[in-house]
Amino acid sequence: MNTEMLIGAAFEKGAEAEEAVLNPRTGATILSLPEASEAQIERAVAAAEKAFATWSRTTPAQRSAYLLKIADRIEAEAQEFAALEALNCGKPINAVLNDEIPAIVDCYRFFAGAVRSMPGQVAGEYLPGHTSMIRRDPIGIVASIAPWNYPLMMMAWKLAPAIAGGNTVVFKPSEQTPLTALKLSRILADLLPEGVVNVVLGRGESVGSPLINHPKINMISITGDIATGKKVLQAAAKSVKRTHLELGGKAPVIVFDDADLDAVVTGLRAFGYYNAGQDCTAACRIYAGKKIYDKLVSQLSSAVSTIKFDQADDTENEIGPLISRRQRDRVASFVERASELKHIEITTGGKPGDGSGFYFQPTVVAGALQDDEIVRREVFGPVVSITRFSDVDEAVGWANDSDYGLASSVWTKDISRAMATAARLQYGCTWINTHFMLTNEMPHGGLKQSGYGKDMSVYALEDYTAVRHVMVAHG
Ligand code: NAD
Repeated sequence: MNTEMLIGAAFEKGAEAEEAVLNPRTGATILSLPEASEAQIERAVAAAEKAFATWSRTTPAQRSAYLLKIADRIEAEAQEFAALEALNCGKPINAVLNDEIPAIVDCYRFFAGAVRSMPGQVAGEYLPGHTSMIRRDPIGIVASIAPWNYPLMMMAWKLAPAIAGGNTVVFKPSEQTPLTALKLSRILADLLPEGVVNVVLGRGESVGSPLINHPKINMISITGDIATGKKVLQAAAKSVKRTHLELGGKAPVIVFDDADLDAVVTGLRAFGYYNAGQDCTAACRIYAGKKIYDKLVSQLSSAVSTIKFDQADDTENEIGPLISRRQRDRVASFVERASELKHIEITTGGKPGDGSGFYFQPTVVAGALQDDEIVRREVFGPVVSITRFSDVDEAVGWANDSDYGLASSVWTKDISRAMATAARLQYGCTWINTHFMLTNEMPHGGLKQSGYGKDMSVYALEDYTAVRHVMVAHG
């Protein structure tokens, strides 16, 4: 297993204190990894700066060829990547292998194609005797900071559009989940020119902060907590860096009385609990119409009680544990505070699992009210709340009454009502009669405090390139 950071063409151990990387299924330490020192961060930025001079002048076709090779290598080593991700995150290996790795491979392939066919305004004589044209050029050195919930996928979402756009990158994985980034580093060093991607390890305050505050960084891309996003904005303000913020979410799910109840239950059982709910688009905040509410609570609770999450034979598991003891305790405290309210009923789950792993039972919190903490704050665990609404205005009003604006869904058989409701929702994405489905051709990103900037799609390529105007005077 690679344990060294990629700086330029060299692999080196971090020079600072070690941080333990844990197996969430057992709580045991997998290994400990030293953090990058300030000098190592400095050298990683210098390597990215040096590489930018030549990488930024490669053609889209050349960069596309590199991306395709990265995709092929991940695909060829899918088993090893999946095993590492499952070990480090506690994810069921089949979920990584069947859901995540194909989407990751496709992400590199998508940007390999997209960068060769970027659309734009036509060149023309907008002033007599002058021809204007638009260029899209690289931004420079990107500091990319990833979270722990989908480590290899977040790396793909950040690296693929950045390097496709001609930028160079210093990437920092979450200190809790660095293993697949370390493995991919070896492949990137084999395939890419020196310094195009550099990988440094460490915690947010000690390594992330000096990286994003570095004066040579031109853009900061982060997926993480709102509080971390605010620190990025402070760092960016010092030297006016570009920012790309994918922060949290608290997805509302509006279920009208005429919805297909079986489809809703099947959907919520899957999309509310996938990755143990550690997903910023998780279908976690249900608003159900008066007539469907009771049936939904009862059928969803019995469906959720059958989710397999702590089986010794991992191939049976649908979800895994939470990432850390801290995260499990945080989730438990949200549920405990909710259960103290008289109007709330925990209809299934509600407790941490047995043993030393960081498990939490898949949980349904019924009878929640709009102002309850469980409805307003991101829990980031296998916990779904259900609130009864009386009419569409109330449902839309409550759905939009949130600091977050990432994802939402509407469930009804009436397509006019679905479209009218979707149009009123202030979310980066609204699904109709489904939830959670992503595709590399379509953008993913938020409104409000969920941040801004898009991952995936041609919109990400736009975010990682700068629009420039070149004008020629020719009389
Ligand atoms: P986090 O903000 O604690 O950490 C994210 C990353 O930021 C980590 O690599 C961390 O080391 C780094 N970091 C922390 N403090 C920093 C600082 N001061 N300077 C620079 N870097 C710093 O978030 P997390 O706990 O790893 O991830 C969970 C959060 O991420 C949730 O809130 C979730 O909703 C959000 N998330 C959002 C999306 C999205 O697309 N919107 C996707 C996944 C996760």
